Amino acid sequence: MALFKKNIWLIFYILMLFSTVLFCVIAYIKWDSVYLRYQNAQENIVEILANTTQSLFDTQERLMDILGTSITTEKHNFNNPEKISKYALPLLKNPAVTAFGVTRPDGNFVYGSTNEDPSKIINLLKYPASRLSFIEALQSHSMVFGRTYFSPETKSWVMPIRKTIRDSNDQPIVVLTVLLSPTLIFDNLIANIHHKKNLLIAIIRDSDLYPQYLSNDINTLEKAYLTPFTEKDRNNIYETIFHHYGLSSDELKRNEILVSFPHKHADGTHYLASLKFNNNYKIWTIVHTHMNTIIYDFLWVIFTYFLIYLTTGIGFFFLFRLIARADEKRKNDLIFQATHDSLTSLPNRSYLQQAISYWSYKNAPPFSLIYVDMDHFKNINDSFGHQFGDHVLVEISKRLKSICPQDSLIVRYGGDEFVILMNLCEHQALLIFSFQLIELLSKPYNINELNFNISASVGIALYPNHGESLDMLLRSADIALSKSKMIKNSVHIFADTMQDGFLNNIKMEQALRKAITNNELSMVYQPQVNSEGILYGVEALVRWHNPSLGHIPPSHFIPLAETFGLMPHIGRFILETACTQMHELHTTLKHTFHVSINISVRQLMDTDFYTHLINTIERTHIDTLALTLEVTENLFIEDINLILPLLEKIRALGIQISMDDFGTGYSSLSMLKKLPIDEVKIDKSFVDDIVEDLTSQKMVQNIIAIGQNFEMQIIAEGVESIEQKELLHAFGCNKFQGYYFAKPLSKESLLTFIQSQKTSL
Ligand code: C2E
Ligand code: CA
Ligand code: CA
Repeated sequence: MALFKKNIWLIFYILMLFSTVLFCVIAYIKWDSVYLRYQNAQENIVEILANTTQSLFDTQERLMDILGTSITTEKHNFNNPEKISKYALPLLKNPAVTAFGVTRPDGNFVYGSTNEDPSKIINLLKYPASRLSFIEALQSHSMVFGRTYFSPETKSWVMPIRKTIRDSNDQPIVVLTVLLSPTLIFDNLIANIHHKKNLLIAIIRDSDLYPQYLSNDINTLEKAYLTPFTEKDRNNIYETIFHHYGLSSDELKRNEILVSFPHKHADGTHYLASLKFNNNYKIWTIVHTHMNTIIYDFLWVIFTYFLIYLTTGIGFFFLFRLIARADEKRKNDLIFQATHDSLTSLPNRSYLQQAISYWSYKNAPPFSLIYVDMDHFKNINDSFGHQFGDHVLVEISKRLKSICPQDSLIVRYGGDEFVILMNLCEHQALLIFSFQLIELLSKPYNINELNFNISASVGIALYPNHGESLDMLLRSADIALSKSKMIKNSVHIFADTMQDGFLNNIKMEQALRKAITNNELSMVYQPQVNSEGILYGVEALVRWHNPSLGHIPPSHFIPLAETFGLMPHIGRFILETACTQMHELHTTLKHTFHVSINISVRQLMDTDFYTHLINTIERTHIDTLALTLEVTENLFIEDINLILPLLEKIRALGIQISMDDFGTGYSSLSMLKKLPIDEVKIDKSFVDDIVEDLTSQKMVQNIIAIGQNFEMQIIAEGVESIEQKELLHAFGCNKFQGYYFAKPLSKESLLTFIQSQKTSL
């Protein structure tokens, strides 16, 4: 079937070729049969005419013999016209006989059926039309034909036949002449031939090629009877017959063979001719049919077949075109499906890959690639379901279409990512356009009677400056986008300086993958103290030292590890190292203090996290009651339904949960109430300017009030001065962490720190 559809037109042409050949074969057979039909009919006519003429002439000759004997046996009979007329009566009864006459050898009439006074009839030797045949008759012993001529006596065209009656000494006594009407004889004969109009029947004398009879479709009979066929005509015909039958003229005549052949007249018209020679009377019987008659007949016969051929051809054409079009449509649909996003009907990634050749080619004009990413789109899907998210995406695509120029290309590149190719290239104009775009996308969405906002980030790359291939352009735009993503709801046009950061990140990723096996990661511990400055716990902080990159702060590599998917791996190292080392210190000091371990969002989302936590606790023998996990406030925005049960399970083990960076996120009070939190950590950013900034003071006071309200412990981080500590203490915070007390310390330094504290107590 697929093969059929692929070669549909080829099959059509083969079918048409086949039916054309079939039509030609049918046409050929039909032509042959029509031609043969005409030939057979014509040959029958020739045969009938030849036989009839033969028997007619035989009869006439015999009649004349009898008449002649009757006239001549009784002496002087032939001088008595009355007597002769009596004898001639039976002869004259034949309607084909126009007249009968008896003449002496000198040409003078003894009797003439047309005139009572024979002396008034013109002497046959003197009349040019009769002279030759009269002399011939005098010399011959058999019946002689005269040329057909117009007889003034009978006022008609007549064909004379003459016979000389001789005495016992072979001397001519009288010459009998019978005038036959060729029209009457032959017209009667051919009266029943239905297509006689198309026939030309001729009886031609062989001696001088004058026609004895011509059928009446010749209008100018006079001229025709008076014009003999030429020798050239005759030779032409002989040649054609020889060509067709291989017969010489002699054979043809001698054996009286009936032949048929196509023939071209001197005037250029084509005929189908049939002829036969009568050796006895030396006359040709010829029947011609105009070739056009046969062709018309053939065309009429073949017309029906032609109609069938034509209608099936046209029918097939439309059928095949229908199939081809349906197939074409199906193919186009498939291509459309493959190259378009089914949800928004926007072109998709693979379309972009194909379409890019229309934008970037040698000496192509510059254009821009705008990468649009919706901020926190995942939240919409998670909170309201995918169907709802789909509605939003459709609305986003509508808004994009409404703002982008007609000649731009809008592509749904991924879930909530869109790529726009457009001719706009000037920086200022691009920024203006992008901000308008962001503004439009940030307008409230009303879906299922729900009103909400969502922002978008945009990264732009320019062709050819920021990349000549699609990949390069996308990468550049992506780098610019990631810049925007940090701020959210903003636009960045790619700059080479971003590339450096990007390349650094790539380098760092490669280095980070090897960091654990190369023993480049280590843990430090920053003491946490109470209001008396006495250590009650530590926060475990990771450190990375790479031989070529140097010290890389965790605030830099932790987010990278998260995006590269390395966080579960690194997280395990952190948990294991911190638990092992702090259990060692607990054992050494015979004193258990708290250990707070930072758990990143991605780490917590890892399905194996809980199992690994339990395994680590069992393996390191760390006291779960001394363990605190620090999670950031932002975690709860991600997916509270997933996180909550996990945190409950962790808490059930006796482990405490501390909310890191509290106040920087957007948790609502109602959400806070739901969360299983033991401790709130006031972020360093509030502590930093708490002494001089009233807003920070208010913020810190609020945080403390909330914490106390929910019966949570409160700790402040980043305490660098006694003033900060005093103020925080005054507000109600009684746990502290910061450089003022101690910097993050290695395990060994921590041991020394704790021991020195003990001695100072
Ligand atoms: P964080 O959890 O808020 O950690 C506190 C950061 O403040 C630490 O920086 C600590 O060294 C610093 N700090 C504490 N007191 C002071 C102070 O008085 N003055 C100043 N200037 N800084 C102070 P660090 O170690 O560079 O960590 C930065 C961030 O990296 C952390 O913020 C945390 O979000 C992340 N991080 C560090 N270690 C880990 C870890 O082991 N696991 C995970 N998941 N994240 C970690
Ligand atoms: Ca922390
Ligand atoms: Ca913090």
